[in-house]
Amino acid sequence: MKVILLGPPGAGKGTQARQLAEKYGIPQLSTGDMLRAALKAGTEVGLKAKAAMEAGALVPDEVVVGIIADRIQEADCQKGFILDGFPRTVPQAQELDKMLAGRGMAIDHVIDIACDAEALVARITGRSTCSKCGEGYHAQHKKPAQAGICDKCGGTLTQRADDNEETVRNRLTVYEAQTAPVIGFYRPGGVFKEVDGMADMGAVFKALCAILG
Ligand code: ADP
Ligand code: ADP
Ligand code: ZN
Repeated sequence: MKVILLGPPGAGKGTQARQLAEKYGIPQLSTGDMLRAALKAGTEVGLKAKAAMEAGALVPDEVVVGIIADRIQEADCQKGFILDGFPRTVPQAQELDKMLAGRGMAIDHVIDIACDAEALVARITGRSTCSKCGEGYHAQHKKPAQAGICDKCGGTLTQRADDNEETVRNRLTVYEAQTAPVIGFYRPGGVFKEVDGMADMGAVFKALCAILG
């Protein structure tokens, strides 16, 4: 099963993709996570992505398309995958279609996690992530039992450098201009659905599972 989760920054793509990956036994492919790992490791891809990520702008299409093209060739992706944060431009969506078609594959579900714009800044500025296991938390909506400590593994929670208010506002503008048109790209194809991202996390998960079966 090949799934794309669309939605603005803070909609809950990562939160949901992580749970869906576990439930369906297929990998979560997050270009944001892959780029942050490349940055940390100091690879060439990381160097190319650094300035754009810090500014909340998009990394060039050819860089992210290259990452995804390599990743979907790996053995664990043959049963399917959940794309989270890719494609983020219409050209990325076109390239994805082409690379899948070349392997006799196609996307089965494109689901937009729709959110009110006003909710997103608070979602992102309240976000933290476990540095050890990657579990996501939120200052209001998903507090850890002990401040700064992961409930699951005891790891330290960290905040992303680009999750500050100024960069977030830029990311939301970039979303409207460059990523929202991806919805129009998929809508006519019959694979497109939408869920209400303003519902609580459990309800969003249920709605997604109802679509994916
Ligand atoms: P995205 O990957 O789309 O940028 P995340 O999954 O990281 O979004 O979610 C952003 C923040 O909002 C996280 O702190 C997460 O815990 C929280 N969050 C996710 N879904 C919901 C929801 N339905 N209601 C309230 N908060 C949520
Ligand atoms: P969020 O969860 O807030 O939506 P991500 O973790 O998906 O953020 O992405 C963080 C940053 O990484 C983006 O602001 C952008 O600079 C870069 N990035 C991630 N995915 C892509 C992509 N598909 N195309 C271009 N840039 C990307
Ligand atoms: Zn953890």
